[in-house]
Amino acid sequence: MSDFAQSVKQQADIVKIVETYIRLRKTGAQNYTGLCPFHKEKSPSFSVHAVRQFYHCFGCHESGDVFSFVGKIENVTFPEAVRIVAQKCGIPLPKREFSSPEEAAEARMRGKLLELHEIAVAWFEEQLASPEGALAREYLAGRGLTAEGIRAFRIGYGPDSFHALEERLRREADEATLRASGLFSAKEMGEGADGKQQFGPIYDRFRKRVMFPISNESGRVIAFTARALESGDKAGAKYINSPETPLYSKSHVLFNLDKARAAIRRDGFALLVEGQMDCISVYLRGIQNVIATSGTAFTEQQVAILKRHTQNVVVNFDPDTAGANAAEKSIALLTEEGFSIKIVTLDGGLDPDRYVRERGIEAYTQAIRGARWQADYLIDRARQQFHGASAEQKQKAVDFLLPHIRRIPQMLARDQFAADAAQKLGISDAVFRAEFRQAALKRRERVEARPASLSEVERVLLRALAVTDPEHESARRIAADAINAQPQAFEHLTAFVALRALAERGARDPMDAVEDDVQRALLAEALLAEKDAPSAAEVESAIQETEERAIAGRLRDVRAMIADAEQRGDFAELALLTQKKLELDRSLRRLHDQRPGNEAAD
Ligand SMILES: [Zn+2]
Repeated sequence: MSDFAQSVKQQADIVKIVETYIRLRKTGAQNYTGLCPFHKEKSPSFSVHAVRQFYHCFGCHESGDVFSFVGKIENVTFPEAVRIVAQKCGIPLPKREFSSPEEAAEARMRGKLLELHEIAVAWFEEQLASPEGALAREYLAGRGLTAEGIRAFRIGYGPDSFHALEERLRREADEATLRASGLFSAKEMGEGADGKQQFGPIYDRFRKRVMFPISNESGRVIAFTARALESGDKAGAKYINSPETPLYSKSHVLFNLDKARAAIRRDGFALLVEGQMDCISVYLRGIQNVIATSGTAFTEQQVAILKRHTQNVVVNFDPDTAGANAAEKSIALLTEEGFSIKIVTLDGGLDPDRYVRERGIEAYTQAIRGARWQADYLIDRARQQFHGASAEQKQKAVDFLLPHIRRIPQMLARDQFAADAAQKLGISDAVFRAEFRQAALKRRERVEARPASLSEVERVLLRALAVTDPEHESARRIAADAINAQPQAFEHLTAFVALRALAERGARDPMDAVEDDVQRALLAEALLAEKDAPSAAEVESAIQETEERAIAGRLRDVRAMIADAEQRGDFAELALLTQKKLELDRSLRRLHDQRPGNEAAD
């Protein structure tokens, strides 16, 4: 960990940082608990230890420090997590160092492009308010947008000019940066002498269009969607977007996520619509957990981004055929990632924007409440497409549904889906039922290495080894010495790896010393118990009990070997083993006699 990261970690309070993402309740002298952001749960099993500055979830066994929390929840690398935490604490960032001149140049370019987009968005807003923007204002009013809504989404107007924006931005950046911004077009002029594509002079890309800014997750504008004011051949495509730039990659952006993320966490699900106008319209009327895919196809990257915020989605795509296909593709991707999905279909064949304008937000809220689980939705689609009682139609319906069933990661959900489908499609045929059953069985739930639960002895040892105050140092030393002296006596413990790492940790922070995730989770579990650090006597007793168990375990092995040697008639080995058994018996007796309270036993 760099000095800067170290200093940020010392100044940051993990409780405060975690509270910027989830609600925590104080549940002990040093513990806070809340609903885990990393797995779905109804009762809180996510704990934060205020003194030791770590978190641990008793449900999904995630644990770590403030940086790993931010890294995981924001899905960013370690250096990025350090920066985020520093910013949240108001700690000034050191000048960033770049590993290469290219990297430094790229970062400079991105910074410059963000500046250009900020100037452009303000300029488009001005144009909308100007006399030339009258037609655009009329169009927006016609779509039910108020001045307030226009301001909230920073909607603007790109005037009917090839060089107006260019003139505005000329003094802000060099030619190469302007070309990289995606705000301009240029004619392709064929290959030059160097074999590279040559371009003519630049001109404004977005002309006579209503401009909808697209922001990244932090709310900075990185691209635009532009809608033509006129229709017809001369006007060009109805919608055009910024091209891919160093700032913007279409497949990585979920429209409105910057505004919706807080509401998504609060409401526990995201409403997914197709068009930006749908999204804006619904959001401005009060449903704030809405995001749009800005196109028809939902990409894997978008799914990954969404997963950081929720695993529950309600999908409301256009009801036309293209929309239904896009919906199915999205459902497929989301299903594979373990999302739970509901589908809204609006009656009257309306898209969300028109629906809220014609029927009101109350009716739309009702429609969302009435969303159907994806299984029911898909079964209905199968019935619509392949109606009829013939075996052929039923086979087609089965074929349509099988891939969807196989995608579901949870076995129980697959089973339920298959059973429902067989029932609703009226399939009594044993062959079909078998096919469904097969599909349901095919995908196994991922088996994760869950740590076994800790014994009381392990809890005592872990807590003793993790003490950092001088008052309990002697207890810590007793435990560390015992483990370092004869590690084999502790090998049978579940937390052995953690114990060993802690015994050798020196001055390192206990949570940092244990590198294995599963083992660190065991340590976190022990430390979250509201108990004082163990006394030297408690530690000694725990060590003895562990040693006794280790010997008892070896005795069991030796007895089994003796039985085996007897059966084989191997008397030489039998003699050795018997000797060994006597030694172990003696050690066990000695340990037993040493125990406090047992001295006078014989
Ligand atoms: Zn969890």
